[in-house]
Amino acid sequence: MKINNITRKTGTKHTTLSADITFGAGIKENLYLRVANKYKHFVVSDANPFLAALLLPSMRKKEDLTIEGDVSPKLLTNTRSIMNLVEGWKVGFEKVSVKGKAKSGKTSPLNLNPSYSASFFTGGVDSFYTFLKHNKKKDAITHFIFIHGCDIPLENKEFFDDALKSVQIIAKEAGVEVIVVETNMRTILEQHLEWEWELGSALSSVALFLSNGLKKVYIPSGLRSDQLGPYGTHPELDPLFSTEKLEIIHDGCESSRIEKVANSIAKSPLALKYLRVCCQIIKGKYNCNECVKCEQTKMELLCAGALNKAKTLTHTIDVDLVRKAIYNTKLNYNLFPEDILKSLKKQNLEPALQEAVAFSIEKSKHLPLSRRGANLVAEIDKKYLDRRIYKFVFGFTEKEDRTFLYKFLSRTRLIS
Ligand SMILES: [Zn+2]
Repeated sequence: MKINNITRKTGTKHTTLSADITFGAGIKENLYLRVANKYKHFVVSDANPFLAALLLPSMRKKEDLTIEGDVSPKLLTNTRSIMNLVEGWKVGFEKVSVKGKAKSGKTSPLNLNPSYSASFFTGGVDSFYTFLKHNKKKDAITHFIFIHGCDIPLENKEFFDDALKSVQIIAKEAGVEVIVVETNMRTILEQHLEWEWELGSALSSVALFLSNGLKKVYIPSGLRSDQLGPYGTHPELDPLFSTEKLEIIHDGCESSRIEKVANSIAKSPLALKYLRVCCQIIKGKYNCNECVKCEQTKMELLCAGALNKAKTLTHTIDVDLVRKAIYNTKLNYNLFPEDILKSLKKQNLEPALQEAVAFSIEKSKHLPLSRRGANLVAEIDKKYLDRRIYKFVFGFTEKEDRTFLYKFLSRTRLIS
């Protein structure tokens, strides 16, 4: 894999950093990151963002990585630790050779001293927790970073605008600024690596892109330390993308999700007013109130005694939906309902709901043959077919209506 032709351009409205990425088979793509000119002084002109984005795809493809551009000496040295860690997980990554020109410091056109702290923010439990945790400290979070082109596909402009509007309202009330970054990173990289493995490096890439203005960037964690396993965003992995100027922090591993809700979200009027957790992309709906994530969050708020104070979720829990839910035990998500069940039992709350949660946990451990078959096809697709089945399904739906497909699959509980 080769990264070259790194270009930083300021247009009438936006500043864009781009690079040509040549993959082993000779396919060349132009990867870009873009931000409004208000933040043009934050934008670097070095190769760090591209190194962060391309390292794991290179390891997966077993292709050496050559970078024609300046790279932070610290980051270049850390690539060895990153590769040791990720290869050690034994999930299909192999060490490769990384060649780049180590050059620190004066790569900034204005040579500014970064002075702000930012966090990736979606309005969900993890990002609210990280924001609230640091809010009263000396180096409180001054900026939220919101990305178009990672979790939210570039094509889905309508949902992006909708989600951005709510993040901007929260930011205004919280007294922080929102930096919107647009990138085609996912469109390009998902062809080479499953997106779950790119999560931390993609966010680190965006943080590095803005590292002339940011000295510290938080990546909110989704799991408590004892729940962790190999995954694309991880407290041992994300900080290794830091440079001499920028500290990247994987934040929040001291608490499980139910603890975050009980100790932070349930006590914050701001979070209760604006919490957005839904994993569906449904036009005009802030939270769908029907998906696994919505139901789970409502149960966590119930355990915290704060469901009736939530402004963005209904106050009733559909016990039938809870019974039907299937949790992905492989990704440790099964721990969330187990935490909920423990808390409901301890407080002697809602016996019917307790029974439904217990039922869905057991069912998830012993999946029906059809579901196991579907999982096997997905595994084979990932391992041997270069995700052709996945790309067929989502390639089709991107052009059609992806929202509808997600909604349908979720309703029928084919995805959770
Ligand atoms: Zn939902």
